[in-house]
Amino acid sequence: MGDASDHADVGRFLRTPEGKKVLDRFTESLVGKSIAGVEYTHYSTGIGIVLSFHDRDLLDLAEAIEAFSVETLRRRYQRLLDREYGIDFPQLNANPSAAENASPVARFVCPECGASEAFCIETWQRLTYYPDGTVTEGDEGQQWDPDSSCCCESCLHEGVVGDFLPDGKP
Ligand SMILES: [Zn+2]
Repeated sequence: MGDASDHADVGRFLRTPEGKKVLDRFTESLVGKSIAGVEYTHYSTGIGIVLSFHDRDLLDLAEAIEAFSVETLRRRYQRLLDREYGIDFPQLNANPSAAENASPVARFVCPECGASEAFCIETWQRLTYYPDGTVTEGDEGQQWDPDSSCCCESCLHEGVVGDFLPDGKP
């Protein structure tokens, strides 16, 4: 824990406009609020601290720290960190990963927060309905295109698939 590569990845996240936006949103969620109470919870790792505000919002300090931990940043902002790594070490970035070739979703990056962890896509599927109530699926399965509605699971930013692709094309 806490080695040089962890330190470098946190630095890469912090220097990006996407990373700055994530922190700005966290700041906005707190500035101006006044603390109405403090509660303590019992975690196996220790005592948890939960702040409650006058507008009834809660802030679990352990959750907030976890959300900004290097492990979470790596999982949630993998593509963003890969991009920054490629800037630091361009000679090592020649080969796209296997996942990148497998699915266009592997290239998705949220234009709002830079996350690449999970996306909700509105899909359609062609089904064949028979009068007896039978329904069969075609071979194509679920489909979507650049105009399909898409949402970032990390920040709930909504747009269309094309907005989440670096070049706008799947
Ligand atoms: Zn997002």
